[in-house]
Amino acid sequence: MLKPKYGDESPMTAISTTPGNSALTLIRCSGKGSIELLSSVFSSAKIKDAPGNTVAHGWIVDKEQKIDEVLVSVFRAPKSYTGEDSFDISCHGGIVVAKAVMIALKNAGFRDALPGEFTFRAFLNGKLDLTQCESVMELVSAKTDTSRSHALSRLSGSLQKEINEIKQKLVQVLAGAEIYLDYSEDEVSATDDDEINGKLPNQDIALSALARLKKLSASWQLERIYQEGITVALAGKPNAGKSSLFNSLLKEDRSIVTEIPGTTRDWIEAWVSIEGIPVRLVDTAGLREAADSVEKIGVERSLKILQEADIVLYLIDGQEGMTKEDIDYVKKEKCLILWNKCDLTAVPQPFPLADINPICVSAKTGEGLNLLYAEITKDIQTDLSADAALGTTRQKNHVDAACALLEDALVLAEKDEPLDLIAPLIREAVNALGEITGEVSSADIIEEMFSNFCVRK
Ligand code: GDP
Repeated sequence: MLKPKYGDESPMTAISTTPGNSALTLIRCSGKGSIELLSSVFSSAKIKDAPGNTVAHGWIVDKEQKIDEVLVSVFRAPKSYTGEDSFDISCHGGIVVAKAVMIALKNAGFRDALPGEFTFRAFLNGKLDLTQCESVMELVSAKTDTSRSHALSRLSGSLQKEINEIKQKLVQVLAGAEIYLDYSEDEVSATDDDEINGKLPNQDIALSALARLKKLSASWQLERIYQEGITVALAGKPNAGKSSLFNSLLKEDRSIVTEIPGTTRDWIEAWVSIEGIPVRLVDTAGLREAADSVEKIGVERSLKILQEADIVLYLIDGQEGMTKEDIDYVKKEKCLILWNKCDLTAVPQPFPLADINPICVSAKTGEGLNLLYAEITKDIQTDLSADAALGTTRQKNHVDAACALLEDALVLAEKDEPLDLIAPLIREAVNALGEITGEVSSADIIEEMFSNFCVRK
């Protein structure tokens, strides 16, 4: 059998929900003739004439055997996610039911969808541009509510609109340059010539496009944090209260808390949202001389995590006070120092380490945690404006390429280089922006991009 190809229009299917014990499973199907195919495995043949945006109740039937009682939502081209005839089967949950329905659909002639193929077809049929397709994946993997809302803004077309507006400006600059190229030197008056001396035709427009591109490029630094998150690791001597703080930050009992030193033998991690920022919180093994080889490995791994973390929270056991080990660590490593168990003992004044103001917290009562949140996020500007922002490294690379080309064009213009050297640079910048939305991308590149989708969406 030939390997299926992206965008070949053939009827395809995929389980859209996570397989497992659940109330319902959603199976999505799309492609040319897909609703006719469905009628061969659905209890009522009338389904093939069902209008779009309707729901039919019936049974999936395979070889005259009822497989499951289902609801089918029917969508007709072009008013569907993919722009093709398509339908969603809502069947009972559980792996066995989903598998049996999938077998029936395969017997009817559907094939497995490729990763991202539904979205790929939506792109091919003009339902979404590439920035919106990418935002679908961003939405699926959003780690916090803020990440979700940023992805949703891109899905609604905020980035597409910004890119198209900038591109429009560059096209104006290009048109201006090409007018000069189209006319012979004699036809361009002295006044016109003076105007281009040291400048691009429509230089103001070019500069405003460049400023908008730079703003977009800069937006990635923060957007990336919202997507990928930061790593915050907890360090400190055994019993300092790392696991307790981990649980407090998580607001649930994930890490075992005991009074025996060294309970967290390796590391435990979980994602939490702090001021909308996805934070990978890691509770490391206590930093101390390891007694056995297993614990030794745990301590070594912890040290590696601490080196790689964006922020290390070093906990001092307030009840025990500051030890030589604590002093050695905080003098050597960059970290935020937390005076834990402040419900039992306040910070000694003056603090033994000059120029350091530890944050007083109590993992037990939650005291000081708001201060800690503010400290963790203080270098990250969280009040994002509603402006368009980038959502992927791919988009950032193209924006940077367009910026560099435009800057080169401005430098050449300043040196009074001929416009036939400058115009191709602006044209390339326009194309770089076209690649972001998918207007001028090659089929191979687009297929490669969709094949990296982690779900069959
Ligand atoms: P770890 O070894 O650093 O992970 O420390 P644990 O989180 O296991 O805590 C050691 C002990 O200190 C446990 O009995 C905790 O209940 C206690 N503990 C931790 N944080 C606090 C705190 O803020 N206040 C008080 N009173 N006890 C705490």
